[in-house]
Amino acid sequence: MKQFLKKAETVYIRHVGILTVLSLCLSLAVFAGCAARQPEPLKSVDTGMGTIISQTIYMTRQGEKALRTQEEEDAGKSYVTEGDVPPAEEILSLIGDMEQNLLSWRISGSEICYVNSQAADGQDRITLSRELSDIMETCLLISAASDGAFDITLGQVTRLWNIDEWSGSDKTGYEPPIEEELLTALSQSGSRFVSLQGNTLCLSKRVQLDLGAVGKGAALQVILKYLQEKEAQGKLEGAVISVGGSILTYGRKPDGGSWKVGIINPGDTSRNLGYLDLSGQWCISTSGDYERFVEVDGVRYHHIMNPATGYPACSDVSSVTILSKDGLLSDALSTACFVLGVDKGEKLAEEFGAEALFVDKNGQLHMTEGMEEYFRLSN
Ligand code: ADP
Ligand code: MG
Repeated sequence: MKQFLKKAETVYIRHVGILTVLSLCLSLAVFAGCAARQPEPLKSVDTGMGTIISQTIYMTRQGEKALRTQEEEDAGKSYVTEGDVPPAEEILSLIGDMEQNLLSWRISGSEICYVNSQAADGQDRITLSRELSDIMETCLLISAASDGAFDITLGQVTRLWNIDEWSGSDKTGYEPPIEEELLTALSQSGSRFVSLQGNTLCLSKRVQLDLGAVGKGAALQVILKYLQEKEAQGKLEGAVISVGGSILTYGRKPDGGSWKVGIINPGDTSRNLGYLDLSGQWCISTSGDYERFVEVDGVRYHHIMNPATGYPACSDVSSVTILSKDGLLSDALSTACFVLGVDKGEKLAEEFGAEALFVDKNGQLHMTEGMEEYFRLSN
C-alpha cells in the first residue's frame, strides 16, 4: 500500500504539477490524521457495589499520550509516577469510595452505617454530610411523589429478606421471613418517619435506611463529574460506563456513531428486546424482577419490595428502563416505577422529565411518548 502511494505521488509530480501534489499531500495528511484520531477504546470489566462494572472509554490522542507508560504501570502505586492513572482505575476507586465511605449499610465506617447505628440507639437528629443530604433530598422527593412506592427506610424489611445473600449461586435452604417479623419491621419503616432540615436528618421509630435502590445511580453522578473534568482537560472523547443496571453514556464516539444501550428481554435474559439509540450524555437505569431473586417451593421472590406490604412488588411490570440526564433520578425512578406499574409509573417518570419503557408481565412494551424517539426494536 505504502509503495503504491509513493508511486502514485511520483506520477502526479511528473504529470500534473505541484499544486495537485500539494492537495494530494494534504488529503493524505487529513486521511492519516483521521485514522490517528481514532485510538482504540480502553475497555475493562470489574466488580464493585456488588455488581459488574464495565467501561469503554475513548480518549483523545492528548489523553492517551498523557497516560502512564507501561514501565510506570509496572512500577506500581508505591512509586511516584509521571503519567495519568488510567481512567478506568480512577473510576473504580471513585465507586469503591462511594460504597465504603457513604452508601453501604453493611460496611462499618460508611456514613449510612453510622446513621443506622445512631438511629438504632434512639438518636432522632443526625447531621449528614452535604453529599448524603443531597442524595437523601432527591430520595425523599421521589418517595413523596410516588406515594411511598419508593422508600429508602425499608432497611429492616430488606434485611429480613436477606436480599444481599441471594446474589450467591447457592440459594438452597433459603426461607422467606415470617409474617409477624415483617409486620413489625414494616411498622418501623416509612418515609413519614424521616425528614430533612438543611443537612440534619430528623427521624423517629429508629428507622433503618437502605439506599440500595440509588447507589448505582449516585455513582453515575460522580463518574459524570470525573468525565466532564477529563473532557475539559482535552483528554476524553466519550465513554459508556455501566454499573450493574445503571448506565452512563457520555460525549462522542470517535467514529461519529451513536451509543446503543440494549434492553434485556425479561423472558429470556440472554437476549435483547431492542436498544436505545442515544447521542451525548444520558443515564439509563433498569429495574427488573429477573435481576435478583430466589425460588422457594416454586414461588419466586425478587428484590424490589412493595413498601405497603413488605413483600416483593407484584405490579404488571417485569422490567422498567428509565432514561434521564441524571443518574440518581434514573435509578430511583426505575425502582419506583417498577412498584407503581405501567400507568402510574409513566406519569411519575414524566413528572420528573424522564422517559420510561416498560416490559409488562406478558412481554408487551409500553413507553412514554418521548421514549419512542430513542427506542429501536431488535430484528
Ligand atoms: P438494582 O439494585 O438491582 O439495580 P433497584 O435499583 O431497583 O435494583 O434497587 C433495588 C434495591 O433497593 C433492593 O435490593 C433494596 O435494597 C432496595 N429496595 C427494594 N425495594 C425498594 C423500594 N420499594 N424502594 C426503595 N428501595 C427499595
Ligand atoms: Mg433503582
